[in-house]
Amino acid sequence: MIVGVLNLQGAVSEHVDMLAQCQVEAKLIKKVGDLTGIDGIIIPGGESTVIYKLLVQEQLLDPLKKLIHAGFPVFGTCAGLVLLTQPKAFGVLKAEVVRNGFGRQKDSFEQAISVAGFDAPFHGVFIRAPYLTAVDESVTVLATIDDDKVIAAQYEHALVTAFHPELTGDTRFHEKFIRLIEKRQDFFSPNV
Ligand code: GLN
Repeated sequence: MIVGVLNLQGAVSEHVDMLAQCQVEAKLIKKVGDLTGIDGIIIPGGESTVIYKLLVQEQLLDPLKKLIHAGFPVFGTCAGLVLLTQPKAFGVLKAEVVRNGFGRQKDSFEQAISVAGFDAPFHGVFIRAPYLTAVDESVTVLATIDDDKVIAAQYEHALVTAFHPELTGDTRFHEKFIRLIEKRQDFFSPNV
């Protein structure tokens, strides 16, 4: 299995390290040709407006959007969650996204999160984090803050967190994503 990590801006190397901890090969994705041979892709945290511009500039947005809408496994953290939700970007999760949703005074914070399916809390690192609201019933909510702010969710082959699992030593979300890829591996590896 080879997992792509979108390498336009943001916390790229941290995801590569997490994949290495899970004994999975990572491939940095900067242009369309790089998509060949990967089995899933991670969209890292960073600045979603910058990553969006670079996706358009590198002509990666449309081919990647097509793949993702065809069922290609994807994991987005923070800005990655924003891009996977915004209709103009990947628009794969039906929900509203509130960028920088936790306000100035709580721009960055850390909190133990209880996540559906995990038997111990997950250490959530939030950095100008977004959250999801008005989540469609097609989306499975995995974690919330304040009852109604969705901070981890899954829609079929798309997994998102508003926080940064790649900044902790905890590989549970990456392992969850790897299992999701394994389930869909009969699907395809893109050859573009
Ligand atoms: N607030 C950023 C955005 O909307 C996301 C921050 C992050 O990825 N740490 O792009």
